[in-house]
Amino acid sequence: MKHPTNGRGLGGLPRPALTSEQTRGRAAQTHCTAPRRSPINYRPAARRRWPEAQWVDGEGRWALLARCYSLGISLHPTLIAAEEWKRLIDAVGCAPLCLGPSRHRIVDLEGDQ
Ligand SMILES: [Zn+2]
Repeated sequence: MKHPTNGRGLGGLPRPALTSEQTRGRAAQTHCTAPRRSPINYRPAARRRWPEAQWVDGEGRWALLARCYSLGISLHPTLIAAEEWKRLIDAVGCAPLCLGPSRHRIVDLEGDQ
């Protein structure tokens, strides 16, 4: 039976303390109903595809890979955004030990190459 006064107590009686399990359940529920920025999260997909990646950053289906000192991946929502970022790191380097534009590549996470 549910109390309609949930949490406020009945006639001044203190409400029963929640078990830690109940508290965790509520926290998880709150988290799951929170609005998300993007319906699909590509980071886990990128991690699975390139487990050797040192870091994966950003969000989106277009992955810009920089295989220089170590493999770093930035994700972008559009190909244009990924190309813009690639031009930037091609010009200034992806890291202090950048090996050059030939090591930078754009991959579509929805594709299979
Ligand atoms: Zn580089």
